Amino acid sequence: MAFTLSGDDVCQTTLPTPIPDPYWVAFSPSAAKLANIPLDVNSLPVDQSWLQVLGGNELSTTNHQFSNPIATVYSGHQFGVWAGQLGDGRAILLGEIDGQELQLKGAGKTRFSRMGDGRAVLRSSIREFLCSEAMHSLGIPTTRALSVVGSDLPVRREAVETAAVCARLAPSFIRIGHFEHFASLQNIERLKELADSLIEQHYPNCLQAKNPYLVLFKAISERNAKLVAQWQSIGFCHGVLNSDNISALGLTIDYGPFGFLDRFQIDHICNHSDQGGRYAYHRQPQIMHWNMACLASAMIPLVEIHSGDDSQNLLRAALEDFPVIYAQAWQDLFRKKLGLFTSQEGDIALLERLLQSMHDSKVDFTNFFRGLGSLRATTSLSQISLRDDFINREEIDKWFNDYIERLKNESSDDRQRQEMMNQINPKYILRNHLAQVAIEKAQKKDFTEISKLLNILSRPYEEQSENESYALTPPINFPSVEVSCSS
Ligand code: AMP
Ligand code: MG
Repeated sequence: MAFTLSGDDVCQTTLPTPIPDPYWVAFSPSAAKLANIPLDVNSLPVDQSWLQVLGGNELSTTNHQFSNPIATVYSGHQFGVWAGQLGDGRAILLGEIDGQELQLKGAGKTRFSRMGDGRAVLRSSIREFLCSEAMHSLGIPTTRALSVVGSDLPVRREAVETAAVCARLAPSFIRIGHFEHFASLQNIERLKELADSLIEQHYPNCLQAKNPYLVLFKAISERNAKLVAQWQSIGFCHGVLNSDNISALGLTIDYGPFGFLDRFQIDHICNHSDQGGRYAYHRQPQIMHWNMACLASAMIPLVEIHSGDDSQNLLRAALEDFPVIYAQAWQDLFRKKLGLFTSQEGDIALLERLLQSMHDSKVDFTNFFRGLGSLRATTSLSQISLRDDFINREEIDKWFNDYIERLKNESSDDRQRQEMMNQINPKYILRNHLAQVAIEKAQKKDFTEISKLLNILSRPYEEQSENESYALTPPINFPSVEVSCSS
């Protein structure tokens, strides 16, 4: 919905900077439907007006007029350090369509670009596009991607690449960093406007509370706790969990050097720029909690309006709910991944033993859980091919014995259990090497692999026997794709 704050200290009217000779690179019909945008794959070549708008060259189509595009200011903590003012340095909010804000990423400089060029390269735009849509299809809250429009305009990063504009959709792009910005300036009036508009548009239940701002904090924190549990459950690493990349709606936002786990390593670091591993897979929950502490601190002046001297204690207590909510969500999800639909003592210990063995043997995270669904409770150990992936046979055999024993306490039969497990253990995820193939083809102006991946990843829980090769672990000697903050 609409970004309702106005004024030079909050946002600035910013026109996208045109790109020469735009062309379609990618388009998501399902995202278009979400915002009732009258475009489908057949109308794309015909409707040039949307190509011009989504590339940042024009502001109106036959159906829509975007009269006041803006860039907003925010601040934030980056890699644990206060970074001061940041803002939409390369994102321009065109306006709202049907409850969705439409934002162009890479559409040129804004007042908040600092030293940047306001552009995004084709490579990173394709990654953002594919991952946004893949996450949505996995059932994980995320900003959506409508399209990628390319141009041959050169953009300098480590090497010279070409520019692209990714059109994103979300009910709101407000981040924790927006709160931190006004809090750091001690601008309570703006802070209040921000919280009030968020409550009015997205958290209306808070209005009934004695202290709406405390309840708003709790709601944002809860959504993000559940979000990170979902990330862990599908092996998603965000890569840059800075507070300016954390959504106030609990959406996955700002896809950069993200990565899905292939071979399970609990401390996997997907971002090549993250030398200390601050944002490693196993640290994501505690880092999200840390970001919620940043939000709590920014919201103190708001909570004080209703609760006075008690505010810090109330926020501290609310912050302590985070690990509890997270742990509950994580346990529920992972229990289901194992096919355990009842909760019994010892389940979590069983799960932790498995994760340790998977880590020790670098077992493919997605394929192991998917494969586990086809296990029959009557199978003898020697018939379980999943054992072959483990180095310590004795240990994993003991685990399978205990697991099969545990399955006997479930009321579901083998077939039902597999059906339910297949709805939580995806077969297809956006592995880095798959995205890389699509990118390399696109760099040669062949965009077919992007559509193919979009299609496969839109049905991640289906078998798709014709696409088996897209579910394989990359070969051990496959050159690893290095992704960094440079995009
Ligand atoms: P990110 O690491 O992409 O979340 O970006 C951090 C901050 O840098 C945000 O304020 C971005 O808007 C800004 N930024 C990133 N890349 C660029 C760019 N190419 N030009 C201008 N600003 C950028
Ligand atoms: Mg960002």
